Amino acid sequence: MYGWETVRMDRGEFLRTTLVLAGGILLGLPLPKGTASAAEKGRIRVYSAAAGGYVTVEKVVKTDKEWQKQLTAEQFDVARKKGTERAFTGKYDKHYEKGVYRCVCCGNDLFRSETKFDSGTGWPSFYAPIAPENVRTEKDRTFFMERTEVLCARCDAHLGHVFDDGPKPTGLRYCMNSASLSFVKAGTEGKQG
Ligand SMILES: [Zn+2]
Repeated sequence: MYGWETVRMDRGEFLRTTLVLAGGILLGLPLPKGTASAAEKGRIRVYSAAAGGYVTVEKVVKTDKEWQKQLTAEQFDVARKKGTERAFTGKYDKHYEKGVYRCVCCGNDLFRSETKFDSGTGWPSFYAPIAPENVRTEKDRTFFMERTEVLCARCDAHLGHVFDDGPKPTGLRYCMNSASLSFVKAGTEGKQG
């Protein structure tokens, strides 16, 4: 499934890979599989860059009409209707300033610039979320593919998909839509974006 049989590794490389995988599991790094939805609970615990730690926040539930008032047509289509922006058109594809990427819908912190890399796909890509609790995943079987959808844990916004062909240290590639993100420059996290 992960193509191990096609990957030739010497003993040292195998040990390093095993250690990285084991370390990832011990550290609670997110893996691309379904996580329990907290949608029914009303309140969730997420990491906040502004607070410098975990906080408990209300889930954000709004009607399409309310979201439409707050978002641009493209943001609404992507974040609320599971759309995908055209590759190489998003404002954060080639964006490398230092800071935090938040959910465009609810302001939940999602990714740090330190985990961003150029995947060459035309979409902003990260190897890990800011904290495992801040995103959730779901199986997506549309378009005759089996993919893992990534959603905002606080408002269920569609962010993109996660694949297991990313760089070290996680080996994950969070392929996101710029339209679902809102960037906050380092040092200004306290301001609501
Ligand atoms: Zn959100």
